[in-house]
Amino acid sequence: MKVILLGAPGAGKGTQAELLSKRLNVPVIGTGNIIREAIRSGSTLGQRFRSYTDSGKLVPDELVVELVAERLRSDDCEGGYILDGFPRTIAQAEAFERMAGQIDAALNFELDDAVIVARMEGRRICARCGLPFHVEHNPPKVAGVCDACGGELQQRIDDKPETVRQRLAIYHEQTKPLEDFYRERGKLCALDATQSVEAVTRQAVDCLEGA
Ligand code: AMP
Repeated sequence: MKVILLGAPGAGKGTQAELLSKRLNVPVIGTGNIIREAIRSGSTLGQRFRSYTDSGKLVPDELVVELVAERLRSDDCEGGYILDGFPRTIAQAEAFERMAGQIDAALNFELDDAVIVARMEGRRICARCGLPFHVEHNPPKVAGVCDACGGELQQRIDDKPETVRQRLAIYHEQTKPLEDFYRERGKLCALDATQSVEAVTRQAVDCLEGA
């Protein structure tokens, strides 16, 4: 099954991606995570990415499309995958369609901007494995420590309020048009992302069962 998770930053896509990945037994391709890993590795490409991510801008389409194309060539993607954070522009969606054909569903995480800005305050990410948490809505078992690998939980540099506003503006301008793109293809499924983690998973599963 090929599933795309659409929605603003902080809507809960990363958390649901991990849960759905276990249920469907397909890998998550999270472009934000791939990009953060490249930055951590200190590579030249990573340094280029950093100039965009730290200020909340999108990495150029060609670079992201190439990252995804390379990841899709791995054997573990043969049975499908969950795309988290890609595509983020119409150009990326078109390039992806040319390379992978039709998807099964695009789950659209619906949430107001005001709620997102409030949620970002509490968002934390594992510095070692990238798993996302939220101090209130999705807390780790031990404060500050990743449930999965024991790594330290940190706030992302791009989760600062000014950067969040910039990312939301870009989301509305460049990513929101993807709703129509997938609606026209009969693939868009709306999720009420204000609900609890468990309730959002249930909505997603219901949607995928009907896909
Ligand atoms: P995320 O973790 O999905 O919020 O991604 C973090 C950052 O990585 C974004 O703010 C962008 O700078 C970059 N990024 C991730 N995915 C994409 C994408 N599909 N297109 C362009 N930039 C991306």
